[in-house]
Amino acid sequence: MTLAIEKNTAPLFFEANQEQQDMLEALHDYLKKEVAPSAATRDRTHEFPHEIVKQLGTLGIMGAQTPELYGGSALPSSTFAMLLEEIAAVDGSLALTVASHNSLCTGHILVAGNEHQKAKYLPELATATKLGAWGLTEPSSGSDSGGMQTHAKEVEGGFVINGSKIFITQGSVGGTYVINARTDQPRVDKSKTDGISAFVLPRETKGLSIGRKEEKLGLNASDTAMLIFEDMFVPHEALLGTRGQAFKDVMRVLDGGRIGIAAISVGLGRAALEAASKYALEREQFGQRIADFQGIGFKIADMATQLEAARLLTLKAATLRDAGRPYTLAAAQAKLFASEVAVKACDDAIQIHGGYGYIKEYPVERYWRDARLMRIGEGSSEIQHVIIAREWLKGF
Ligand SMILES: Cc1cc2nc3c(=O)[nH]c(=O)nc-3n(C[C@H](O)[C@H](O)[C@H](O)COP(=O)(O)OP(=O)(O)OC[C@H]3O[C@@H](n4cnc5c(N)ncnc54)[C@H](O)[C@@H]3O)c2cc1C
Repeated sequence: MTLAIEKNTAPLFFEANQEQQDMLEALHDYLKKEVAPSAATRDRTHEFPHEIVKQLGTLGIMGAQTPELYGGSALPSSTFAMLLEEIAAVDGSLALTVASHNSLCTGHILVAGNEHQKAKYLPELATATKLGAWGLTEPSSGSDSGGMQTHAKEVEGGFVINGSKIFITQGSVGGTYVINARTDQPRVDKSKTDGISAFVLPRETKGLSIGRKEEKLGLNASDTAMLIFEDMFVPHEALLGTRGQAFKDVMRVLDGGRIGIAAISVGLGRAALEAASKYALEREQFGQRIADFQGIGFKIADMATQLEAARLLTLKAATLRDAGRPYTLAAAQAKLFASEVAVKACDDAIQIHGGYGYIKEYPVERYWRDARLMRIGEGSSEIQHVIIAREWLKGF
């Protein structure tokens, strides 16, 4: 495993300062020693890496973009994308844990929280004393998240929430939950997304229970669970942002999250490319290295080129975000392209390994299983097309 900046594959406009570079290198060393050797085992045992996550808290990674005032590292999005790529290149599950904790739960508190909420929740999230989970998806509403049915009824002193969320990352290991719920009656007009509010609450909240833990195709060491709310009372202080207006915040949170998913995609694709390159140079058939067959060399050329383009798109979106410029279009393009080419790269890596690629002794089948989620989570590829078309056409 080589650090992307070491290999000089980081684009020219990405200038990590010394502090960021030190952090990337410290992370790289930690991943190599403590994470890489056990990643395949955790994929088999489905064990959540509590100790590793705590350690990442100590390294400043769990509060990567949280301001220093709240105990975070205040890193720019571009550095965070590089960090996620590094983590994903050794352990996709861990990368999803880090990305969702930072971008979704912490991200929503950063976007919409008041000073009291930030001071109360962010320091524990930044140090990984508590892990963050973010609940948007429900059994009957995924892409059409505005159609959610979880309902928050205003009562004296706060809200009573009933409903459920599915597929929630850190669902069963979370300590802090951000939950989106409808504070108005079920929507009548499907084009409207108002009437949704967000709430931040601790795990101990009465009425919150953890439902089934999902068995997944991949990302086995990340935690995915259902959340159930039965007459769950939360005080008014739990309301995150303006009542009825959370959908706009959700869209902002997802814009940021998509840069993270794109970065994870690049990391997984890169791991597949590195494994395939090494294998192609070692494996001989018909008396020569398979890398010397044009059919294999061209695959590697496409993988390397497409992944580099994906990295550029990812860092472009991150750089726009860091500059305070609009980045919805760039984030959707990065997420769409990076996830699609990463899955293709992982598939090609299996092909290059032949039968061995299909066998668990080699890592490439895990990379493919992990990468496959990136085309679905935080807005599927189809939804990214919808966003890109809408944002692009706005310009005309
Ligand atoms: C491992 C994992 C972790 C997750 N983590 C979280 C989390 O932490 N928090 C959270 O809230 N959610 C989470 N999710 C949910 C995830 O974001 C949704 O699964 C995703 O948004 C798709 O929603 P859906 O599964 O309901 O599919 P659906 O919305 O039912 O889509 C089914 C198919 O229809 C297509 N489709 C839908 N609408 C359109 C359209 N307008 N045009 C064209 N095609 C369309 C989709 O692209 C897809 O191919 C997670 C999911 C998984 C699997």
